Amino acid sequence: KPIEQYSEQEASAAALALRNVLEQWSQAYYTADQPLVEDNIYDENYRDLETLEHAFPAIVTSDSPTQQVGGQVLPGFTKVTHEQPMLSMGDVFSLDELASFDSRLRKNVTTDFEYSVELKIDGLAISLIYEDGIFVRGATRGNGTIGEDITQNLKTIKSIPQKLTEPLSIEVRGECYMPRVSFAKLNQRREADGLATFANPRNAAAGSLRQLDSRVTAARNLSTWIYTLTDYAALNVTTQAQALTRLRELGFAVNPTTKVCKTLDEIDAFIAEYQAQRNTLDYDIDGIVLKVNSLALQAALGNTVKVPRWEIAYKFPPEEAQTVINEIEWTV
Ligand code: NAD
Repeated sequence: KPIEQYSEQEASAAALALRNVLEQWSQAYYTADQPLVEDNIYDENYRDLETLEHAFPAIVTSDSPTQQVGGQVLPGFTKVTHEQPMLSMGDVFSLDELASFDSRLRKNVTTDFEYSVELKIDGLAISLIYEDGIFVRGATRGNGTIGEDITQNLKTIKSIPQKLTEPLSIEVRGECYMPRVSFAKLNQRREADGLATFANPRNAAAGSLRQLDSRVTAARNLSTWIYTLTDYAALNVTTQAQALTRLRELGFAVNPTTKVCKTLDEIDAFIAEYQAQRNTLDYDIDGIVLKVNSLALQAALGNTVKVPRWEIAYKFPPEEAQTVINEIEWTV
C-alpha cells in the first residue's frame, strides 16, 4: 500500500526488512566483490528505504545504510584512518530530479554559480598521499573513516606517479578502475582456468586492488582517474576545474572529458552525449557527477553525515541492450 497509509510500526518493520536485505547485498558487493543483484535493484531498494525514513524520521537508525558510507575493511590489511572522511555521493535518476537538486541549491545560494560536470567512473575510490612529491601511502575508502592500506598494490599501477613534478605534500583522491579490455581478458583467462568470473569491471578492480600479494594486482592492468584533493590551498586554486588542471600538471591521470556548465540545458546535453557514447569508452561509467565549481562555495555548503551537499550523481538507467546480449549469449 502507499507509504502515506503506513502506521509508524508498519514503516519501521518495512525499513528493518529493507535494511537487512541491503546489508546482505552490500556485504556481497563490498566485501566479497561478487554482487548478488544489479546496481539498479540495490538503488531501487535503497530509495524505498530513504522514502520510508523521510516520511517517518523517528524510524531512522544510526546503522541504517542511509546514514553510513558503504564498505568494510578486509582482515589482513593494515587499517588507515582517513584524515578527512571519504564520503559517498547523493544520486538522482532523472533529469527532473537533477533540476530539483539545482533549484534547491540555487534557493540556498544567493550568488550565481557554475558546475564542473564529470564522468562518474565505475571503479573504487582510492586515496594517495605524497610527501615532498613522493608517493608514500595509498588506501581504499573502506567505511569512509577507516580504509585499507594498499600502498604496495597501488605502486604497481602505471598511471599513479611515484614522484610528482613538484615536491608537494598532498593527499589526492580518485577512482581506480579496470579498463574494459583488461576485464575481458581477465575473465577469459579465469574461465579457461575454471575460476569464477567477475560480474563487471568494477568488481574485478576491487578484487584486484585488495590482494595481499601485489604481484596479482600488477598482473591485472588497473588504471586510475584522479579527481580531487583534500587541501586545495596546497595547489593555490579556487575552482574544481583549476584543481583538475593542476592535478594533471603534477603528473596524475585526469579524465579529459570534464566540462564547466552554467545551465541545465548544457548539463542535459553533456549527459545525453556521454549516455550515447557510454559503450565506446575504454572504461565503465555509471553516470555523470555535478560539482559546484567554486571551492569556497563547496566549503560553505559542507556535507551531511554521508554525502557532500555540493555534488550529485546522475545515474544512467540500466542498460537494456546489455541484458538482451547476455540472454543471447546464454542460449547460444
Ligand atoms: P557511488 O559509488 O554511487 O558514488 C560515490 C563514489 O563515486 C565515490 O566514492 C567515488 O568513488 C565515485 N566517483 C566516480 N567518479 C567520480 C567523480 N568524477 N568525482 C567524484 N567521485 C566519483 O556511491 P557509493 O556509496 O560508493 O556506493 C553506492 C553504490 O554502490 C550504489 O548506488 C549501488 O549502485 C552500488 N552498490 C551495489 C550493490 C549491489 O549489490 N549491486 C551493493 C551495494 C552498493
